[in-house]
Amino acid sequence: MASHTRRKLKLPDQIPLNPLLDLWEQQEPEGPDATRIYEFYRSLAEGKFVTTRCITCGKIHFPPLIVCPNCNGEDLEWIEIPEEGELYAFTELKLGAPVIVEDYAPFVIAVARFGNYPENGVQISGMMFDVSYEDLKVGDRVTWEIMEIVGPGDKTRYWYCFTRV
Ligand SMILES: [Zn+2]
Repeated sequence: MASHTRRKLKLPDQIPLNPLLDLWEQQEPEGPDATRIYEFYRSLAEGKFVTTRCITCGKIHFPPLIVCPNCNGEDLEWIEIPEEGELYAFTELKLGAPVIVEDYAPFVIAVARFGNYPENGVQISGMMFDVSYEDLKVGDRVTWEIMEIVGPGDKTRYWYCFTRV
């Protein structure tokens, strides 16, 4: 698969992350809070954006799950999210950004659809960079990028964001 540009988000060192916002433990396969969706974080670190699909009914979920809410099936497989999607909704966050991303405001928060939603696709919300609210319109083609979230300290966490194609 094509490799995506890595975007780096630097967090200030002096601000400790709220444990509820910290993805680090979930990224560790052996961590105290390790979950069965560890594969999601491992894939992000490898530059892949994946989620789960139910083998029984075919429903695709986001975020990835361990039980299908459609049929209660537990037989799920990992699939790659298509590289190109469509902007479904968006807004701009100008004030009141969480302190860890305050330096990046104003930024756009978008809902994008990838694949043939809802039958065979996913709807995902995320931050969007390099675009202004005024320049966007519903239906714009977007792609996902992997973000490396550096700090606080020496840990690197991984997440995703969107950018316009
Ligand atoms: Zn299912």
